[in-house]
Amino acid sequence: PAVIVAIDGPSGTGKSSTSKAVAAQLGLSYLDTGAQYRAITWWMVNNGIDIADPSSIADAAGKPDIVSGTDPAAPAITVDGTDVAGPIRTQEVTSKVSAVSAVPEVRARITELQRSIASAAVQGIVVEGRDIGTTVLPDADLKIFLTASPEARAARRSGELKGADVAATREALIKRDTADSTRKTSPLAKAADAVEVDTSDLTLQQVIECVVTLVEE
Ligand code: C5P
Repeated sequence: PAVIVAIDGPSGTGKSSTSKAVAAQLGLSYLDTGAQYRAITWWMVNNGIDIADPSSIADAAGKPDIVSGTDPAAPAITVDGTDVAGPIRTQEVTSKVSAVSAVPEVRARITELQRSIASAAVQGIVVEGRDIGTTVLPDADLKIFLTASPEARAARRSGELKGADVAATREALIKRDTADSTRKTSPLAKAADAVEVDTSDLTLQQVIECVVTLVEE
């Protein structure tokens, strides 16, 4: 039977790297749900939607056609047929994504997409996000909640952004996690039955091994 693995946690915990590697090692599909929220945000920005106005965002939520690839070796995402894998990582999208993803109509739309992708995965799937274990796939076979100290998270993000200021990165990261954790509709949260893994003092390889072991148990 298909195995469903939900991996949630704030940014900078190694969630994406871990999820991709676990999926690849176990021959499972992979879904980056953050990329879907980034893609809808990218579309809103490009179509002149006022990000400060939730009702404009709600009205437009059904318009873009978002398609996610599920190959862990080559994660892909398109909006209306355009490859947006690069553009969704800009600072502009990163700074606006929390506001867009807090709108219930956006979450309903994206959640439906996520459930249909997960149910189509024949071997199973590793789905990473913020509300996968709590809301999107509450019946997942394994739920992991990754954490790390603010220092470790900011250092990782700065490393990824090559030379970005660590203090500024830390500020932006805390702001985004606070917004994601305090929104009303399915906030970033650890499911009651999730296994929490603090990655602060672990190498990526150790985190991957830990999750693979949990899946195989
Ligand atoms: O994982 P990533 O940092 O790319 O996620 C970008 C944003 O998408 C998060 O800050 C959050 O606002 C939103 N998100 C969400 N629910 C998810 C995944 C991401 O609200 N399941």
